[in-house]
Amino acid sequence: MANTDDQFKKVISHAKEYGYIFQSSEIYDGLSAIYDYGQNGAELKKNIREYWWKAMVQMHDNIVGIDASIFMHPTTWKASGHVDAFNDPLIDNKDSKKRYRADVLVEDYVAKIEAKIDKEVAKAAKRFGDAFDKEQFLETNPRVVKYQEECNAILKRLGQSLEKEDLADVKALIEELGIADPETGSKNWTDVKQFNLMFGTKLGASAESAMDLYLRPETAQGIFVNFLNVQKTGRMKIPFGIAQTGKAFRNEIIARQFIFRMREFEQMEMQFFIKPGTQVEWYDYWKATRLKWHLSLGMGKDNYRFHDHEKLAHYADAAADIEFKFPFGFKELEGIHSRTDFDLKQHEEFSGKKLQYFDPEENKNYVPYVLETSIGLDRMFLAVFSNSLQEEDLGDGKSRTVLKLPAVLAPTKAAILPLVKKDGLPELAQKILEELKWDFNVTYDEKDAVGRRYRRQDAAGTPFCITVDHQSLEDSTVTIRHRDSMEQSRVAIDDLKSLIEKEVNVRYWLQKMNDL
Ligand code: ATP
Repeated sequence: MANTDDQFKKVISHAKEYGYIFQSSEIYDGLSAIYDYGQNGAELKKNIREYWWKAMVQMHDNIVGIDASIFMHPTTWKASGHVDAFNDPLIDNKDSKKRYRADVLVEDYVAKIEAKIDKEVAKAAKRFGDAFDKEQFLETNPRVVKYQEECNAILKRLGQSLEKEDLADVKALIEELGIADPETGSKNWTDVKQFNLMFGTKLGASAESAMDLYLRPETAQGIFVNFLNVQKTGRMKIPFGIAQTGKAFRNEIIARQFIFRMREFEQMEMQFFIKPGTQVEWYDYWKATRLKWHLSLGMGKDNYRFHDHEKLAHYADAAADIEFKFPFGFKELEGIHSRTDFDLKQHEEFSGKKLQYFDPEENKNYVPYVLETSIGLDRMFLAVFSNSLQEEDLGDGKSRTVLKLPAVLAPTKAAILPLVKKDGLPELAQKILEELKWDFNVTYDEKDAVGRRYRRQDAAGTPFCITVDHQSLEDSTVTIRHRDSMEQSRVAIDDLKSLIEKEVNVRYWLQKMNDL
């Protein structure tokens, strides 16, 4: 098995080599935890955003989308709790001078114990073969049970200490567990302190009249402050949702995992406004629905799991993460939060305006409860990209690097390749390209032997290669090659559009949600 560090390095270098992700301002040595999307990355990101938007907005009659500004009135962030409570507990190592998130140090310690459990499971599965019952093993194997209890106890204590803002106990926990600086091994820690993650800036020309603003740390508040605008102008009836995608900014303490944790990133959020008292049922509904959306992309059921929060944010009465198995282990990809009426009530209080809904069935006004689904677009990009990048053994000592992106998300759907650069083949290939580009993002490549061109497209993630040869001139057929199976078949040029369409259209993929 490839070392996970090596695998992750490969993901990063492949993303650069194939025009997916570049370090921002690279010629000036970059900016930490800020990245630019290249020609292929921009397309993949756009396709993921669209896949989410279609599933959430287009396919739900009662969900609409908005596009709120990044700058918001500063009182927004007082009302939301971000000015007072949007903090991460940080700890410095006195020897290495490196800064860490104290909660992440503890969580990583727990992840190591969990990895031991996984190892025991794998060993037992091998030993028992078909007779292996994973559930039973997890419940009865004494070593595994002990590991699990240890994890639970640590996470519980961490959750409680953070909840109580008992930062001294978080430090004590780190010391008791003997957690060392992951880079240097030193255990010489400072106290744990809180650090606010919002970026500040100023609005206005003169120093005296300038107003202190924040770059929004989440897109959700743009939805809450527009709740009544949308409800009234859209004549929305509860339950209904408001969705949006857009940039968010956080001055993250640790930013060492490529696009997993960025200082400038994009969120895709949806706030679902419901009748108070119905939150448990909607919480379950959105947990299940969002998981189905992920599974529809076919990236492997075992790569997802739910993690229910021990420590709840100040606004939530229930919260769970959908975690994905990244190259560095299971980590949060999306959050599902039952936010109660916290946000709307806070905005009522700070703005002095009523943010209520008149329920015609109940014949009364109330502040709706909110169920939120919140996913990082860049994190989703990393999940898709890292899962798709595979090194495939082709036998005879040969191998290929292939980026098996779900075809619906692939930046380029097909490459048109003339077998040789003469005899009228490039002209016919160009003609096919001109026709297909009305419907799909397609590319043309005539350089190098066709085998090398196939490899190049495999590595770039293009699902189809269409090769134009001499026979094409005679009978208007071409070869279509599938990236994943490498199978080739001869088809009529006139059929290309429908063949590609069938495998890349959003409907085909999203409908899989219904079968899950
Ligand atoms: P974490 O615990 O990883 O810091 P969070 O719980 O603070 O994340 P939320 O505030 O719930 O995250 O944000 C919702 C989603 O936004 C996350 O599930 C994640 O996908 C994404 N996200 C949050 N912070 C970042 C970041 N710094 N870079 C990229 N994506 C992020």
